[in-house]
Amino acid sequence: MGTEAEQAVIAQALASRYAGRTVLAVGAHPDDLELAVGGTLARLSRGGARVVMAIVSVPADYALRRAEAEEAAAILGCELRILVDGGTTRRIEDMRTYELVKVLDAVVRELQPAALMTHGTAEFHHDHILVHDAAVATQRLRFFDFFSYHPSFCRLVPVQFHPRAYVDISDTIEIKMRAIAAHKSQFGNRSIPLDIYRDMARLNGRLIGVDYAEGLDVGRMLLA
Ligand SMILES: [Zn+2]
Repeated sequence: MGTEAEQAVIAQALASRYAGRTVLAVGAHPDDLELAVGGTLARLSRGGARVVMAIVSVPADYALRRAEAEEAAAILGCELRILVDGGTTRRIEDMRTYELVKVLDAVVRELQPAALMTHGTAEFHHDHILVHDAAVATQRLRFFDFFSYHPSFCRLVPVQFHPRAYVDISDTIEIKMRAIAAHKSQFGNRSIPLDIYRDMARLNGRLIGVDYAEGLDVGRMLLA
């Protein structure tokens, strides 16, 4: 269990690793990123990184979901991109694999990220797995850190995820919760309780001796 001073050093290391650089977070749908890594993205942004939240597609209610996603990104201090745009809804499963890879390639080429975060393989939603697979392919374009985040869900499902890295989000947990709540169409009408996301962050925090944390799997990390 680290002292507060030690934890401050670790926190500084994360901020300085990506300060002045771009972190690209890719989620299949609106709200996936807020649920999985909202606290991490807010921390990176506060630490001086340019953080781009890229949503691959909006599956329904385009205008409403886009507006909610924009509000959430603003709360986290991040830029929002919708990769398959045109003001229409589209299901990722309807895209060819090469089309999806092309879409992600384009944003990686443009932004030249120092790190990319996206869905992992242990997911219940097939769209999320398709995005993961396409993101893996983008690693051929450039050397960046590659992380997978916790399965994002609106209803708790039994999928396994074992983080290999943890980000202390004690300072940004409230920002994360506000960003999730900005998705009113998902968490208002359906009255899905938000407590579970706080509970999960608390549990991850206990595993590294801080109040709240988010877990990441490490696909590739450049320790140069
Ligand atoms: Zn999703």
